[in-house]
Amino acid sequence: MVVRPHRPLAVVALEGGSLLAFSCYAGVLAGRLSEAVAGVAEALTLAGSAVVGWLLADLLSGLVHWAGDTLGSERTPVVGPSFIAPFREHHEDPQAMVSHGTVELVGSTALLALPTLVAVTHLVALDGPVRLALGGVVLFTLLGVVVTNLVHRWAHMEAPPAPVRALQRLGVILTPARHARHHKAPFDGWFCISSGLIDPLLMRVGLWRRLERLLGRV
Ligand SMILES: [Zn+2]
Ligand SMILES: [Zn+2]
Repeated sequence: MVVRPHRPLAVVALEGGSLLAFSCYAGVLAGRLSEAVAGVAEALTLAGSAVVGWLLADLLSGLVHWAGDTLGSERTPVVGPSFIAPFREHHEDPQAMVSHGTVELVGSTALLALPTLVAVTHLVALDGPVRLALGGVVLFTLLGVVVTNLVHRWAHMEAPPAPVRALQRLGVILTPARHARHHKAPFDGWFCISSGLIDPLLMRVGLWRRLERLLGRV
């Protein structure tokens, strides 16, 4: 059983505010994207960008998770207590995150994602198929990144909400069966935790061992 430190009120407020601001800006960008859809071609472009964004979020979730599980330790300066420790604690007590609140799970990720979302929402014009696709990829990647820890928690829950179970059955989000492979010895693969859809490809090309060999040489 991992004893968790008390979370200061200022941190909870910052994470909660970040999540609120991220949700508002995501809504604004989604509105701008929907306004740019004038026909079937734009709708298909946006649907394609949603798929690409969701898969990119899966790749990013895998890279961050691999780094948290593999590099440094809880005593590494700066990133050790805040970034590495939660990953190591999750392997000691995988069910602990089921009791974590939504703000605690996604607030800090929303804070990190917010500057990119704000910049794209305010600065990028969405006219033309390329800009529309790029705007869509940014929105759906950031949405995927921010909800990753929620999706991860649902994969550990015995009885997630009915809509979540439906998405798991469809295979759109990480399923308990997919994620269980990561929590089995030798604990060195299947790191993607948004959907796990690209994990088989990454395992086939040996991405995680390649990265470790690369870092070993550096
Ligand atoms: Zn892990
Ligand atoms: Zn897990």
